[in-house]
Amino acid sequence: PHAAVTGENYVIGTDTTFAPFEYREDGELTGIDMDLIRDIAANQGFTVEIKSLGFDAALQALQSNQVDGVIAGMSITDERELIFDFSDPYFDSGVQMAVAEDNTEITGYADLVGETVVAKRGSEGETFANSIKDEYGFTVKALADSATMYDDVKAGNSVAVFDDYPVLAYGINQNNGLKSVTEKEQGSSYGFAVNKGQNPELLAAFNTGLAELKDNGEYQTILDTYLEQPA
Ligand code: GLN
Repeated sequence: PHAAVTGENYVIGTDTTFAPFEYREDGELTGIDMDLIRDIAANQGFTVEIKSLGFDAALQALQSNQVDGVIAGMSITDERELIFDFSDPYFDSGVQMAVAEDNTEITGYADLVGETVVAKRGSEGETFANSIKDEYGFTVKALADSATMYDDVKAGNSVAVFDDYPVLAYGINQNNGLKSVTEKEQGSSYGFAVNKGQNPELLAAFNTGLAELKDNGEYQTILDTYLEQPA
């Protein structure tokens, strides 16, 4: 344990609806990220107060030191490493495109010409969609959270959504009315972040706690709890 974190309480920002990483069940914040940060805190002797802010809002709160850390299925990217310090990676991810279940027109990026797609403001999905929009001739609309994006696609206001594939897969598996139609794009792994140069003891404790949860099997138990497919 890191003596510097013992007994400390840290304020942690997260996304609102990003199942299975963070979402509400019976009003309670739950998910892989929530279990991870709470179990790491317990393992390392500190406490956390979780703030469900939304993804972009959480990153802004971190930049302005309104929160001590962010865990939000947040990808470790080169651009973000300029302004944040990241933990060791804890989950591999990447971006994929999904459309409404009954959509037979859009089967790949080439079908997006003249269309509007949706992505989360400030996310890797948005960055990826913007990186190919000129080549394929579509418009990217930014929304704040995944649930609103999926509703936008189902309502027909946009033809496709770009989001992280584990999150899309989890929702699709729960019959959320979407289907994925493209290959997964290689993406960055998720990490816990602190503001650059701030709370180094918290970052160190996160890494130590994560390693211990991997060693004692708790990390795998958390993943299995949320990712195991029903038989
Ligand atoms: N992994 C993506 C990113 O970091 C999306 C995270 C999220 O939507 N919570 O940009």
